[in-house]
Amino acid sequence: MGQIVLVSPLDGWVAPLTETPDPVFAGRMLGDGVAIDPVGSRLHAPCAGRVASIHRARHAVTLVTPEGAEILMHVGLDTVALGGEGFEVLVEEGAVVAEGQPLLAFDLDRLARSVPSLMTPVIVANGEAFAIERRETGRRIKVGDPLMILKGATVAATEAVAAGGVSRTLVVPLPHGVHARPAARISDAARRFAAEVRVLAFNRSASARSPVGLMSLAIRHGDEITLTASGPDAEAAVAALARLIEDGAGEEAEATVAEAPVAATPQAPAEVGVLRGVTAAPGLAIGKAFRLAARTIAVAKDGRGLAQEQAALAEAVDIVRGRIEAAAAGGDKARRGILGAHLAFLEDPELTAAARRAVAEGRSAGFAWRAAIGGYVDALKAMGDRRLAERVDDLLDLEHQVLVILSGEAEATIAPPPGSILLAEDLLPSQLMGLDSAGLAGLCVGRGGPTSHVAILAAALGLPALVAAGAGVTAIADGTSLILDADNGLLRVAPDAAALETAQSAIAARHERRAAARAAAHEPGRMADGGRIEVFANVGSLADAVAATVSGAEGCGLLRTEFLFLDRETPPDEDEQHRQYQAIASALEGRPLIVRTLDVGGDKDAPYLALPGEENPALGLRGVRVSLWRPQLLRAQLRAILRVKPIGQCRIMIPMVSGLDELRAVRAVLDEARRDLGVVERVELGVMVETPAAALTADLLAAEADFLSIGTNDLTQYTLAMDRGNAELAPRIDALHPAVLRLIAQTTQGARRHGRWVGVCGGLAADPAAAAILIGLGVTELSATASAVPEIKALVRRLKRDACEALAERALLQPSAEAVRAMAQTFLTGAIS
Ligand code: PEP
Ligand code: MG
Repeated sequence: MGQIVLVSPLDGWVAPLTETPDPVFAGRMLGDGVAIDPVGSRLHAPCAGRVASIHRARHAVTLVTPEGAEILMHVGLDTVALGGEGFEVLVEEGAVVAEGQPLLAFDLDRLARSVPSLMTPVIVANGEAFAIERRETGRRIKVGDPLMILKGATVAATEAVAAGGVSRTLVVPLPHGVHARPAARISDAARRFAAEVRVLAFNRSASARSPVGLMSLAIRHGDEITLTASGPDAEAAVAALARLIEDGAGEEAEATVAEAPVAATPQAPAEVGVLRGVTAAPGLAIGKAFRLAARTIAVAKDGRGLAQEQAALAEAVDIVRGRIEAAAAGGDKARRGILGAHLAFLEDPELTAAARRAVAEGRSAGFAWRAAIGGYVDALKAMGDRRLAERVDDLLDLEHQVLVILSGEAEATIAPPPGSILLAEDLLPSQLMGLDSAGLAGLCVGRGGPTSHVAILAAALGLPALVAAGAGVTAIADGTSLILDADNGLLRVAPDAAALETAQSAIAARHERRAAARAAAHEPGRMADGGRIEVFANVGSLADAVAATVSGAEGCGLLRTEFLFLDRETPPDEDEQHRQYQAIASALEGRPLIVRTLDVGGDKDAPYLALPGEENPALGLRGVRVSLWRPQLLRAQLRAILRVKPIGQCRIMIPMVSGLDELRAVRAVLDEARRDLGVVERVELGVMVETPAAALTADLLAAEADFLSIGTNDLTQYTLAMDRGNAELAPRIDALHPAVLRLIAQTTQGARRHGRWVGVCGGLAADPAAAAILIGLGVTELSATASAVPEIKALVRRLKRDACEALAERALLQPSAEAVRAMAQTFLTGAIS
């Protein structure tokens, strides 16, 4: 795209836009440009184009050039209040005009007497796509004189780089491309720099600060993109954003926000009285239909004046922002993740600029907000990407929340009666978060998808849920009895007595199993033959530690200390760390606490560490390698752990070890810290087995480590050479692969030689199919997610060591993970006694 030359639409004096005596224009809230103090009384077209809109008060015109640049001309300030008096429109909306063609005539004297200023901003309203390359200011100008030169942002950005800016081209590794959450994280990181970073993809560009702009670039896995920036910290900004994107933009972390919903694709046509949907959260429930009616909010098209509408919009957005922040502060991980993405949308500069532009064109705040959201909704829908299309819900949610505030009507909290199955054609995340969910037994939504935020919320609430069940959902009358079989993707409408009875007994059996497990959750982990297996929980926050204690965990087998180090600009100091570790130790009420030293690098970035960019971060500077590269961080962390009282409750564990030298180096720092703090008691130091190297040399490590704990997530990734974050490989990356089991066997054998215990703290510890095999291989501690603890303990109670050992021996000889799983299933259902 070449240059676009704009000529002056007025006779007058041209000045920088910042001299306009109006904060909205001077602050470039509606776009960048210049202002002209007119001496003539006709507004002319500054270039050829189409008249996109004429304000009903006739004082403002927007022209769109053939290249798509939107030029807004706003004659005088507060002229909207004149209601069109003193203005004459000389063209029609939609007309195609030539450069210099008269658009408006106005009575200059009359305006001069009635409004505070005649300054006329001429601005590029869609500055995200067009950059101003040159502009005239500080001189007398005549109609037709050159005024501004614009360039497509892509060209402008490329040239900015040539003129001394910074650029970097990279390939996007994110499995699902730049969808909502990565876009929110990228924009959040971009806002920490003064430099304006732009992302270029396929000849289109967007500001890195705009999550919606980023999403609308439809960047997919494997796409090549270019980051450009200029300004004082341009280099650091580009480096940080490139690293963030190359490291997956936190997508791995996202997977831990909530259980990934299981998709059961509808196949066979439904029987009569049965609706088929897609499983968003598994489970079985019986209940009565409770329909949630869609609420539509009408908005007036025309505004009551620029200042009033602009203020109403800003206030409504502020109120919604405050509510989201408050809800996020008190919410669980799933809610915080979703609300964080909503906040990023709400703060998207391009979204709010689009709404402000519509207000400047005379629209009401509500109309403008709906139009701005609508533009992005259409863009996302048109991309043909299911995951992006599901983000439409989030935008519509924000539309709804802001419009509710603008309408001035309060929304009452909806409290479905006990045993309700919520039915809705569509359900917004805020609607689900806003209702009293105590009475819900499940939910079924006509539209939506399995990765939508509603699906994640339902899973976090523990509610069986179906999405995409079709329009039939809304035809079901309130109070109709229903069986929601989310495991199999079915909603049975008005089932007969026999079906109800079968469902009831299945639910009762599940409840009984779970209740029995919960009732016995606080008994020690002991096998049927009396053998002791410690069942611990993994913890990533103080709240997790409380949950661990409540669910009967006998200790914490893995404290992921990263929670303290990520998403901030400086590392926590020794005192802050000590306070947090002490709080967690106290919440565990004396139970053992295994604190893992910082495990960043790879998929978890802490920007302040300025880790060097790497071709292959999973094989680079991560885990203990980072701690030894920044020994002052390690020293502070070890001191903070050593200060926790009572001494000895905390054991220390080193992540990502690949050799004995690393254990020795950490021990040297630990011994020095103990000396400095005068700690004479013994403090256990263990090693995580996450690399094949550690498993194969377990005998050497166990000679000097106090214990070994197997991180099956990474051990599986490195053994099978399959990225744990790769969605394509997800079905094949199974820790029950015989290769992984053989490394576990090698680990327990090596540890046994030196009388050390071996635990498992990776995801396999929470997998019921794995417990018997792990115990049979010699593992004596299982550290699972807190919610899985009662059922793992219940399972352990049914096992005998001999049977487990025989099972493990056979598992090592199986040809595949599937074969191991099949064997384990048969063992669990039949052979236990
Ligand atoms: C593991 O790799 O199994 C583990 C427990 O560590 P993380 O999942 O935190 O990498
Ligand atoms: Mg790991």
